[in-house]
Amino acid sequence: MKTLLPKEIISCSNFIKGSWIPGELGWQEVISPYTGKKIGEYSIPSSKQIDFSIESAASAQKTWALQSIKERSKILYHFRSILLRDQDEIAQIKSAESGKTFDEAKAGLMKGIEVLEYALSIQNLDLGGKVEVSRGVTCEFRREPLGVVANITPFNFPAMVPMWTIPISLVLGNAYIWKPSDKTPLTAFKIANALNEAGLPSGLLTVLHGGGSTVEAIIDHPFVKAIGFVGSTKVAEIVYRRGTNLGKRVLALGGAKNHIVLLPDANPDLSGVGISDSFTGCAGQRCMAASVLLAVGQVDLHINKIVERASSLQLGSTMGAIITKEQVQFLKEAIGRAEKAGAQILLDGRKAQIPVGFESGNWIGPTILDLVTPESEASTHELFGPILSIVRCQDITQAMLIENKNEYGNACSVFTSSGALAERVVKQASTGMVGVNVGVPVPREPFSFGGINSSKFGSGDITGPHSLDFWSQIKKVTVKWEVQTDSNWMS
Ligand code: NAD
Repeated sequence: MKTLLPKEIISCSNFIKGSWIPGELGWQEVISPYTGKKIGEYSIPSSKQIDFSIESAASAQKTWALQSIKERSKILYHFRSILLRDQDEIAQIKSAESGKTFDEAKAGLMKGIEVLEYALSIQNLDLGGKVEVSRGVTCEFRREPLGVVANITPFNFPAMVPMWTIPISLVLGNAYIWKPSDKTPLTAFKIANALNEAGLPSGLLTVLHGGGSTVEAIIDHPFVKAIGFVGSTKVAEIVYRRGTNLGKRVLALGGAKNHIVLLPDANPDLSGVGISDSFTGCAGQRCMAASVLLAVGQVDLHINKIVERASSLQLGSTMGAIITKEQVQFLKEAIGRAEKAGAQILLDGRKAQIPVGFESGNWIGPTILDLVTPESEASTHELFGPILSIVRCQDITQAMLIENKNEYGNACSVFTSSGALAERVVKQASTGMVGVNVGVPVPREPFSFGGINSSKFGSGDITGPHSLDFWSQIKKVTVKWEVQTDSNWMS
């Protein structure tokens, strides 16, 4: 096991105006999914503390906005080098509190650093544009910060998801309020310390802990101009409605139920690895995980390869733990319900070998259910665990009808050796991200991340070029210096 649990309890307060300040509403435990034991604690701020932190952020932002984008980027270059220096330590903490394997925790941080590198490239883009629209008259676009912006993040990517928004919004001149998941506050502690060490002026990064009531206080504060959210669809909708009712811009990314269309002409080795790794990676706790396999025609050879690879995974070393005991219980019961509804179990994660010495952790192994019906819970609900539901389809038309009917819209992939069939799935998929012979079609920078339908509330994407409009506003400036001798309608 590469994951090392912290030797001492890590206490994280709230990062307010450049200092760690204990919350006035008491302490909560952080439990490791590996052991079921306490590894840390976080404290919840009072509404008075939240208001003070946001007012401090607003005041710090005024000076930050006066700096050039190059000056702001310099601090984030330094932040990048600190993250690279401390990558193993950060990955250990992430792994211990989220249940990811050490390698997955490190890969998530690296993907976050890739977004940071994109943010550092913004200074080299022509973000404005100036044209002489009439003789002696120029019009210009200027991209300006919004002021104070906030982001609420989920447990399953404690570093990568926050890194989608921290660097881009800071480089664009905003102050950033971060409410990390109440299950993974320790990674936030490390990231905030890294930004502090990099020289970010106090007040520009605020970390506030807690759950729904902390989030509500942040959304409602009049100084908070924009809210990003990543988490379940249920909470995404609550956050979106609350923020937009107050006239704020909100981009709220929700849950998913991702489909893979497997065609008989697919390369069995490619599909075996791609599909198995997609539903088992991060123990299935990712919004891009394959969840439903639409098996078209005779693909038993391909399915055998998926079962073979998934069976070889070892809990605690090549597959991580589940975030809570309640979630393990829910997954076990969902498998039982699917079985009762007629599914055939090809691989039963309830019987997986639990790592020795970690018996009190939250474990379930990869599970593959065959002959699942399209309307059943296993086909339609986001289970958020290492469970693959196989729905047998006569043809690609039936497969795409099932895919199109699902309420979510993050990802859909196809495994085939036919370019024409791949293009058909790409065109017909009702998702924001599509893959061809790729199990987890997360776009790499500079391509942006974002779903559609119930996987996203709001417009635009949270990263990449489309995120620039979300985290900034455009001022249009028209200038004339001299009186024109021959007047026209613009004079
Ligand atoms: P969650 O919705 O339970 O929590 C997300 C955040 O919201 C946390 O910070 C949490 O403390 C806060 N929160 C919880 N209840 C709240 C409430 N009533 N009001 C306001 N805030 C509240 O999600 P999770 O369990 O941490 O993460 C897993 C979910 O996130 C899955 O559904 C997964 O698909 C989704 N997810 C989506 C994406 C994406 O890009 N679409 C990425 C990662 C995770």
